[in-house]
Amino acid sequence: MSLTDSSATQLAKQIQSKEVSCREVTDAFLSRIEATEPQLHAFVTVTQQLAQTRADELDARLARGESLGPLGGVPLALKDNLCTKGVKTTCSSKMLENFVAPYDAHVVERLREDGAVLLGKTNLDEFAMGSSTENSAFGATRNPWDLSRVPGGSSGGSTATVAARQVPLSLGSDTGGSIRQPAAFCGCVGLKPTYGLVSRYGLVAFASSLDQIGPIANSVEDAALLLQSIAGHDRRDSTSSKAPIPDYRAALTGDVRGLKVGIPREFFGQGVETSVADAVMKAVDELKSLGMEAVEVSMPTAEHALACYYIIAPSEASSNLARYDGVKYGLRVANPGDDVIEMAAKSRAAGFGHEVQHRIMIGTHALSSGFYDAYYLKAQQVRTLIRRDFDAAFEKCDVLATPTTPSVAFPLGDKAGDPMAMKLADVCTIPVNMAGLPALSLPCGSQDKLPIGLQLIGRLLDESTLLRVADAFEKATQWHTRRAEV
Ligand code: GLN
Repeated sequence: MSLTDSSATQLAKQIQSKEVSCREVTDAFLSRIEATEPQLHAFVTVTQQLAQTRADELDARLARGESLGPLGGVPLALKDNLCTKGVKTTCSSKMLENFVAPYDAHVVERLREDGAVLLGKTNLDEFAMGSSTENSAFGATRNPWDLSRVPGGSSGGSTATVAARQVPLSLGSDTGGSIRQPAAFCGCVGLKPTYGLVSRYGLVAFASSLDQIGPIANSVEDAALLLQSIAGHDRRDSTSSKAPIPDYRAALTGDVRGLKVGIPREFFGQGVETSVADAVMKAVDELKSLGMEAVEVSMPTAEHALACYYIIAPSEASSNLARYDGVKYGLRVANPGDDVIEMAAKSRAAGFGHEVQHRIMIGTHALSSGFYDAYYLKAQQVRTLIRRDFDAAFEKCDVLATPTTPSVAFPLGDKAGDPMAMKLADVCTIPVNMAGLPALSLPCGSQDKLPIGLQLIGRLLDESTLLRVADAFEKATQWHTRRAEV
């Protein structure tokens, strides 16, 4: 098997036992990037030199007999909304086109401590707003299964790169589905952890009460390996959980007997294509054959989640994005004699793309006095009801199974002119963010060769059960062995 086909878990072992050097592994993936990047455009920045220097340093440490850590020598890509000291962080926006953060995000520090090698920063929908990566100011990313289709979004670059074996692992961020939806479209495993499990320090804020960073991989085991590295308390994020972190890979026992999987009927309506619904129900049958019991549950408020999200997320975004004013950092556009208001207005008009401006307008409107109670407050109240629906469902089961997306990956340009159709791509993922729960997507079928994603949703902080069920399913089926042909 070629190095680029190996899992992150295998690579870490082979490197630590010196079967292969960090430099060889890094160079193998860099060559793969070079060969496939012209078709895919998964990266905004490839950090070739930095990666090679880092790999050589790690090899030198190995030669001294040191242990490199759980991700020792494993190449990895980061969504370009995660701050990296000395490497540009653009958010795929003209506003931050030349921005270099003065510090590393918490997760970047963790990855370095654990021995990972950063190969670059990946493309996204501008400021993580979108579902196709077409909103990037630097051009769209393509789906490695079919180059005429979108990889999903907003973590489309981070997902396409893993599916195409340009890297074995990456990090994305998920505010309403941006890890799970592209994972479904690209046939990867994508996990959104419980809100607060992974520190958001150094993640460029979109909607702070919803944003979470999570792993993207080609297997559940690799996703667990990466989650282990990034989970855990950080005092620099006030919402960071202090709960003890279990051993996630130890949870992958393959034994799911006696666990209950809930099927929320409401997630199978709302435009879900028959091929997708059928594949998910087949996956549930597979879980039953592994000894799980299936129960029907009801989530009556879930259908309102999308509407609520498009009040809450733009409201928070309008506040978070107020900092890009041309004064402190980012793009500055001004004519001589302009006052600060004119400068801010010109900088924002030139720096932000259409979708971002659109959301700022919705958000400021929803938060303005006179409308706050009718929109923002109401949406927050409905959010509480959604959470209660999940609480009630989890009294009857241990995990929920739903489609990740209503359809398989759609053609580039297909929904660009239809914002409502684009937003419906997240109808099954958004309720999970509203409730702060952990959820993952993994491949469970195909339609005309394109992957279909199964979404498993877990109890708060119960990533272990989620990973255990996903791993058992993966081991019992062949879907994860299919490869994109790019
Ligand atoms: N597609 C959703 C949006 O456009 C979710 C994005 C995300 O999770 N970052 O807001």
